[in-house]
Amino acid sequence: MSTKTDNNKRGSVLIVGGGIGGMQAALDLADGGYKVHMVQRDSSIGGIMVMLDKTFPTGDCSMCMISPKMVEVGRHLNIDIHSLSEVVSVQGKPGDFTVKVKHFPRYVDPNKCTGCGDCEAKCPKKVPSEFEQQLGPRKAIYSMFPQAVPNTRVIDPANCIYLIKGKCKNCEKACKANAINFEDKGSEVELKVGAIILCPGLDRYDAKVRGELGLGRWKNVLSSIQFERVLSASGPFKGEIKRPSDGRHPTKVAWIQCVGSRDSHNANPWCSSVCCMYATKQAIIAKEHDAHIEPTIFFMEMRAYGKDFDKYVERAKNDYGVRYQRAMISAIREDAETGNLILRYALEDGTLVDEIFDMAVLSIGLEPYKDAPEFAKIFGIEPNQYNFAKTTTFNPVQTSQKGIYVTGTYQAPKDIPETVMQGSAVAGEAMSLLGDARWTETVTRQLPPELDVLGQEPRIGVFVCHCGINIAATVDIDSVVQAVKDLPNVVYATNTLYACSQDSQEMIKQLIKDNNLNRIVVASCTPRTHEPLFQETIREAGLNKYLFDLADIREQCSWCHMGNREQATKKAIKIAKMAIAKARLLEPLKTETVNVTPVGMVLGGGIAGMTAALSLADQGFKVHLIEREAELGGLAKNLYKTLEGDDVQDFLKTKINQVKSHPNVTVHTGVEVKKTDGFVGNFVTTLTDGSSFEHGAIILATGGVEYTPTEYFYQENENVITQRELEKMLASGETPKAGDTYVMIQCVGSREEPFQYCSRVCCQDAIKNAIAIKEKNPKAQVIILYRDIRTYGLREDFYKKARDLGVLFIRYEVDKKPAVEAADNKFVIKVWDYLLNKEMVIDAKYLVLSTGLRPHPTTEKVSGMYKVTRNQDGYFLEAHVKLRPVDFPSEGIFVAGLAHAPKNLDETISQALAAAGRAGVVLSHKQLSVSGIIAKHRRENCMSCLTCMRVCPFDSPFIDENGRISHNEIKCHGCGICAAICPAKAFQVNNFRDDQILAMIDQATECEPVIAEK
Ligand SMILES: Cc1cc2nc3c(=O)[nH]c(=O)nc-3n(C[C@H](O)[C@H](O)[C@H](O)COP(=O)(O)OP(=O)(O)OC[C@H]3O[C@@H](n4cnc5c(N)ncnc54)[C@H](O)[C@@H]3O)c2cc1C
Repeated sequence: MSTKTDNNKRGSVLIVGGGIGGMQAALDLADGGYKVHMVQRDSSIGGIMVMLDKTFPTGDCSMCMISPKMVEVGRHLNIDIHSLSEVVSVQGKPGDFTVKVKHFPRYVDPNKCTGCGDCEAKCPKKVPSEFEQQLGPRKAIYSMFPQAVPNTRVIDPANCIYLIKGKCKNCEKACKANAINFEDKGSEVELKVGAIILCPGLDRYDAKVRGELGLGRWKNVLSSIQFERVLSASGPFKGEIKRPSDGRHPTKVAWIQCVGSRDSHNANPWCSSVCCMYATKQAIIAKEHDAHIEPTIFFMEMRAYGKDFDKYVERAKNDYGVRYQRAMISAIREDAETGNLILRYALEDGTLVDEIFDMAVLSIGLEPYKDAPEFAKIFGIEPNQYNFAKTTTFNPVQTSQKGIYVTGTYQAPKDIPETVMQGSAVAGEAMSLLGDARWTETVTRQLPPELDVLGQEPRIGVFVCHCGINIAATVDIDSVVQAVKDLPNVVYATNTLYACSQDSQEMIKQLIKDNNLNRIVVASCTPRTHEPLFQETIREAGLNKYLFDLADIREQCSWCHMGNREQATKKAIKIAKMAIAKARLLEPLKTETVNVTPVGMVLGGGIAGMTAALSLADQGFKVHLIEREAELGGLAKNLYKTLEGDDVQDFLKTKINQVKSHPNVTVHTGVEVKKTDGFVGNFVTTLTDGSSFEHGAIILATGGVEYTPTEYFYQENENVITQRELEKMLASGETPKAGDTYVMIQCVGSREEPFQYCSRVCCQDAIKNAIAIKEKNPKAQVIILYRDIRTYGLREDFYKKARDLGVLFIRYEVDKKPAVEAADNKFVIKVWDYLLNKEMVIDAKYLVLSTGLRPHPTTEKVSGMYKVTRNQDGYFLEAHVKLRPVDFPSEGIFVAGLAHAPKNLDETISQALAAAGRAGVVLSHKQLSVSGIIAKHRRENCMSCLTCMRVCPFDSPFIDENGRISHNEIKCHGCGICAAICPAKAFQVNNFRDDQILAMIDQATECEPVIAEK
C-alpha cells in the first residue's frame, strides 16, 4: 500500500545497500513512522561488517554487534528487504519517486525455505567462498554465512551442476519444503517512495594488480579482509593463526599500509581512513590469539584521528609490543623452500633493508565499485571525480538530487561509528522532507495476548548456543545441555549453532508453543547486545518478555578461559544453572507507558546545535535552542573558509537566520539551564532567566574550546600566533610578502599526556592556511613541522595540493620537539630532519601553532546535570562507541558535535542531523514504554533514612507531601544502588530481587558439576 499526503508526499523510503549504514537508517525510519524498502545486492544484508572479526578501538565482536541488528531489520514489520536485487530505474521528484527494482533469480522460494540447510549438505559442488575470502569453501547452493538475513539459501547459477549440465538436482531431492525452483527467472517490482537513501558502501582494492607485493602469488601474503577471516573464530582456520602455505604458526607478521591508497600513480589518491586502525586492531588480536607473534606495521603516517584512537595505538605499542616502522615496502619476495617472505624497504635515511617475515598482510584500501558511474546515473546524482557520491561540507549527506541522500562509505571512506552516525543523519533528513507523511504507510505489530503464567509451575526451556566456535571451541556444549536438561522445572534443553540467527528465533517460538514453556534461558553471549532480541522473540510467542534470562557463557567463560576446556565447561554449566535458578523465580513484569511531549531542547547554539534544532523543526517539532552567549554561532564565528574553500561566515549567517525565523524554533540566548527535571518524553527545564518549558528529548551540543598554548612564546611575542589568528589575518586581506617564512608546529596541546588524543582538525587547518598563503603569494614560504599528517579520506587531495604548491613538511618526534629561539624580529627553529638525517635550522617570520581542542568548560556541569558520563579527556561518552554514537545510556538524551569529540564541520553537521534523527524517533511517538527492570519501593519497610535519595543518580526517590520517601518509578533506571544500600531492604529491583540473587549464589556455591562421560 502506498498513499500520498495532501502535499503529495509519501511516507515510505527506499534504502539501497544493507550494510550497517543502511540498517541504521532503516531502523530509525521504521521506528520513527516510515515504511522502508531495503534493496540489497547480496543474498543477505550485513555488508562488510559480517566479515570482520573484532572492531577497533573497543575490541567488540563485529558479528555479535551486527547480528541482532540484522534480525531486527529482518523481522521489522515496516521494513521489506529485497535481497539479491538492484534498482534499475528511478523517476519522479522529492516526496514522490517511482523506483523499479530487479530481483535476480534465487532458485529457492523464500516463502517455502525453512533455512534448514539439508539442500546445502547434499550439494556435491564446492567452490571458494566469497565470504571466507577464498580461504574456505562454500557449496553451489549456500547461505552467505550462518546468521544470514533473510535466512534463505541461494543457488549460484555459475556453479550449479544442474543449471550448467542439466543433471544432479540433489538439493531438490533433499528439500522437504519443496522450495527449490530451477525455473526461477527473477522478477521486477515497482515501488513508490518519498525519499531515497544510497548506501552501497565501497569495494576493496584488488591488490593482485600490484604484482610486486605478491598477493595471489605468494601463499603467505594475505589481504587485510582475508586476515579478518583468519582471526575470526568462525572463519576458515577457526581463529587459529596459521600460514596458508603450510599451516605453521607464524612468528613474524608484517602489515603493509596504504596498499591501493594514497598513491595517485599506481592506485587511488585518497586515504581509506580505516586501515591504520584496523591494522593496529589486527596486530593486537593476533597477539591475543598467539602471544608468540611479533607484529610489525609498516606505515607512512599513523592516522589515529578518531576518539580514543591514539590511546589504542599507544596500547598496541606498550602493552602488545607492536612495532611501528615508518617505511613503504617496495617488494615482497618468497623464499621458495620455507615459504618465508623477504620484505624490502628503505629506512627514512635511505638505508635499504631486507627483512624476513613468516607472513604479510596487505592493508588494502577502499574504492567505489566498478559500476559506480552507472549507479550514479540511475539515480541522477552527480559523482565526484573519484566516483564517490558528491556532497558538500555544509550538506554532507545530501546528494546533488533533492530527496536523495547518501550515507556510509559511498560518501567517503569512514569507520563504523561515522557510518552509523550518517545512517541516523539521513534518516533525520528524510524525516524532515517527509515530516507530515509520518505513520501514513506503516502497520502496527499485532502481538498475541500475553499468556497468564502467574502462579503456574515454571516450565523452563534452555537453549545453549555454540556461537559458531566462539563458545563451542572452549566449552563442551553437549555437556552443558546434559547437565541442565534434568534439573527441576527444565522441560526442554537443546543446543543451537547461533541462538541469535533468524531460524533460531523461529525455533524458540515454536518450542515455546509445543512444550508450553513459560520461562526461557539462553546460554550464549552478552545481554548487553542480545537480551532485547530474545525478549522480543518470547513476547511474539505470547510470553511476557521478562520471563527470560541470559546466561553469559561467552564473555564470562569461553573467551576468558580459552584453552582450558574442562574448567570452562564446568564454569559454563554453573553459569547456566545459576540462570535457571533465577528463571524459576521470574515473574511477569508490567511495562508502564508514558506520554511524550513532542518538543525538543537543544543545548548549545553552535553549528551542531543549530543544525539539530533546524532538523527537528523541519520534522515538525517545536524546539527550544539554548545558548549561553549573547550570539549564536559558537566556534564557527572564528572560521572563515573550509579546507574545500567554502565560505563559513556566509553559511553561518544563513543558519542563524534560518534558526531565528523558523516558526518551530524558540531561541534563548544569554541564558543557561538552571535545572531539568523529568525523564524521556517528559522533561521540564527551567532557565536562568526564570522561564521554563516542557519537552520530550534533549540534544547536548555544548561544543569545545581551543587550547591556549603556554609554550613557544605564545602571548609573549606577537609573531607567535595560532592557526585561528592566522586564518583571521588572511581573511582580513593580509597578503604574505615574498620571502616571508611561516613555520607551523602541529600537535601543540594534543597527542601528549595528559591530552593523549588527536584534535583531528589541526592538520587540515594548517594545510588550509598553508594553501591560502601560497595562493596569495607563491614566494612566501611555509614549512609545517608535524608528527603525522592526518588528512584522512578525501582530504588527502589537499595534502598533495599543498606539496605541489611548494609547502615543505618536516616530521618531528614527540621526544625531539622543535626548539624555538626568538631573535631580532625572527625566530630560529631547530628541528631534526629524519630524511636528511641532520638538524635543520630555519629562520621564520611567523611561528604558527596548531593548537588542540578541549571540551567546553561547561561540559562538566552539564554532565552532572543530566547524569551523563564523560571519557577521561572530558568529552561526553556515548552509549556504545560503535552502534550508538549519538545516544546516551539515559533515554531521550543525545549528543552532537565537539561535545562528543573533536571533529570537522561536515562531521559535526552529520552528527547533529543524526542526533535530530534519533530525537525525532522519540518525539514521533505519542507514548513510550518504560523498562520493567526498575526498583520497587516497599513503603512498609522504609524508615525514610534518605540514604536512597543521596545515592540515586537519577533522582527517582523523593520526599512526598507526608514527608516520607516515595519513588518515581518512571525516572528509575533499575541500576540497583538503592537496593544494595537500603538498610531496611525497602528497595528491590525487579528481576534482581534478593531471593533471585540468593538462588543464584546457592547454585554457584554448590559442589563442582560433574561432566558426564561420553
Ligand atoms: C579489512 C577491514 C577492516 C575494517 N575494520 C573496521 C573496524 O575494526 N572498525 C571500524 O569502525 N570499521 C572498520 N572497517 C570499516 C567498516 O567496515 C565500514 O566503515 C562499514 O562497514 C561501512 O558500512 P557501509 O554500510 O557504508 O557499507 P558496506 O558494509 O559495504 O555495505 C554496503 C552494502 O551495499 C551493497 N550494495 C553495493 N552496491 C549495491 C547496489 N547497487 N544495490 C544494492 N546493494 C548494493 C553491498 O553489497 C553491501 O552489502 C573495516 C573495513 C575493512 C575493509
